[in-house]
Amino acid sequence: MSFTSLGLSDFLIQAVNDLGYEQPTPIQLKAIPPILDGRDLLAAAETGSGKTAGFVLPILEKMQDALPARSNHANILILVPTRELAVQVEEAVQQYSKQFPRKLKSLAVYGGVSINLQMQAMRGGCDIVVATPGRLIDLFKRNAIDLRAIHTLVLDEADRMLDLGFADELDDILDELPERRQNLLFSATFPQGVRSLTQEILVNPVEIEIKQEASIPEQLEQRAIEVDRHNRTMLLKHLITTEKWSRVLIFVASKRTVNNVILKLSRADINAQAMHGDLTQSERSSALADFKSGRCKILVATDLAARGIDIPHMPCVLNYDLPRSPADYVHRIGRTGRAGEVGLALSFVDHESDSHFKLIEKRIKQTVTREQIEGFERDTIVPLEVREKKGQAPVKGKRKSKKDKLRAAEAAKKIWGTDK
Ligand code: AMP
Repeated sequence: MSFTSLGLSDFLIQAVNDLGYEQPTPIQLKAIPPILDGRDLLAAAETGSGKTAGFVLPILEKMQDALPARSNHANILILVPTRELAVQVEEAVQQYSKQFPRKLKSLAVYGGVSINLQMQAMRGGCDIVVATPGRLIDLFKRNAIDLRAIHTLVLDEADRMLDLGFADELDDILDELPERRQNLLFSATFPQGVRSLTQEILVNPVEIEIKQEASIPEQLEQRAIEVDRHNRTMLLKHLITTEKWSRVLIFVASKRTVNNVILKLSRADINAQAMHGDLTQSERSSALADFKSGRCKILVATDLAARGIDIPHMPCVLNYDLPRSPADYVHRIGRTGRAGEVGLALSFVDHESDSHFKLIEKRIKQTVTREQIEGFERDTIVPLEVREKKGQAPVKGKRKSKKDKLRAAEAAKKIWGTDK
């Protein structure tokens, strides 16, 4: 099945060709026809599935003959949970509309930056607004945006939107929208809150489900490098210099480690950018833009900051610190090997994180080959503090049973004549 057979016009076919898309992804195959038919849609799909093109392409197809939005009005509203996603989705709109028959106006609206520019940009009207709920309401309250002309509403990552506490804002926004409109709702999971929302918003929706994620793409190579904790930065520098990745996303456990790693790399004249929750919006955006454009090849990030970020053509993800959960591991390494590309996921495993990595392997039902890099071999002796820690931690299945305890007490009595 090709994009042409989905009924998309030449200007869109050319845009996807330019981006190197050879064929539609499963979600695009299922979502594009009902959206073109004007149906409401309920889609279970995650980031990485190609869902953005799944709704943006048919929206653009349907918009080609429509008049531009009037001043302060918007025609299409795409609600997203985070600033990063707002920027990313709006960029996707720009890319897919490069050959649009007229100049299409789209705008990303999100908090953490000055509202004035967004107010100004809305003055001339806007065909597609991609917004986080809070900032959209701010704009609305200042009469900078009129939502009465919205004919298509997209709720992207609805579950995260509710997780982040946007339920009330969503209600307020829905109150302002016209009754008659097309609604498209995308969510990775369907907890009760999302189900209520779907009932409230969607009218006789087409339901589609794309099973993916949780599984690791086949073309993704996983490697675990055994290294001592204190040698990790040295090894990192060594790998960056020898492997010459065109881009690498490095995950660490905390903001402090982000800064430490960047500092240590900079001492070796290696330029890296930070991505963590304490950065301002403009710092985050510029780090991401530098990374995407290739100006900076190394991004050091925490889990929180990296969620939902989509960077095309990422050859390597490196776990400097292991993630807390196997789910996070799958999520992190899923940043590479996207849309059928080859990818490499490297994990540093020191003595301390050894058992945690085994747990991850057990959960993902895969064994990752261990290796050592010459000159950075892990010490064969497990450090004392790790051994002591292991001794303290209760090991499942090794706890003394009641019977064992009674037997031990009996034995102690015989020897010492007491219970001790
Ligand atoms: P998304 O799930 O929308 O975040 O998209 C994930 C990535 O897949 C993005 O980098 C898209 O550019 C890419 N992508 C979307 N559709 C296709 C396609 N049909 N073929 C190849 N890559 C695609």
